[in-house]
Amino acid sequence: MERLLRLCRENGALILDSHICLRSGRHGSAFFDGRAVMATPALLEAASMRIIGLDVFGQAEVIVGRGNATVELATLVAQRHLDFMPSRLMIRSQPRRKQGERVVVSFEPFHAAKLRGQRVVFVEDVATTSTTCEGVIRGIRRCGGEVTGGIVILNRGEITAEQLGIPEFESVIPLAEIGGEEQWQSWTSDKCPLCAAGQPLEWVVDDQRGFLVPTK
Ligand SMILES: [Zn+2]
Repeated sequence: MERLLRLCRENGALILDSHICLRSGRHGSAFFDGRAVMATPALLEAASMRIIGLDVFGQAEVIVGRGNATVELATLVAQRHLDFMPSRLMIRSQPRRKQGERVVVSFEPFHAAKLRGQRVVFVEDVATTSTTCEGVIRGIRRCGGEVTGGIVILNRGEITAEQLGIPEFESVIPLAEIGGEEQWQSWTSDKCPLCAAGQPLEWVVDDQRGFLVPTK
């Protein structure tokens, strides 16, 4: 775990003890970017090694990665499982879409057909709310797949399997290992204790590009 966390910090996937203006406009001291994980081979390798040790796989036959988000990681995990389960499949979803408050995740017909009647585990990057996971679960079920579990790199919102209505939901990085809830709080700028203490913002979301950039 230490190596994984160190790699996360070195490669911009994990920022702790900082002062950040988040995508929502709220302020916080911590940030996790799944895209940095997918873009860094050493991090993909470290995360996949931890994932294949999780109980959630059980008898899963198909691993689902979400388009534009976790396909690289899901592919690597599926590859690492080849030795003892050569028929395992890695299925790619379409990128998520928003439909009002709901997230919709769908599959191309080729992939959809491979989900029918299969036991499926999905891989997500960060769960802040349950909406994206719920979209993935609905998408798999629409194709006739049985969701036996889900894996998330960071369960920021402490979402539970019960909440999602699936048997298992496991997190690669436990929140407790990276400062717990206290580190991961966020506030509107007028209620931000870091602003109140006069600590300058260190990171903001670049509106054009959609990722964090240092303020100086
Ligand atoms: Zn602030």
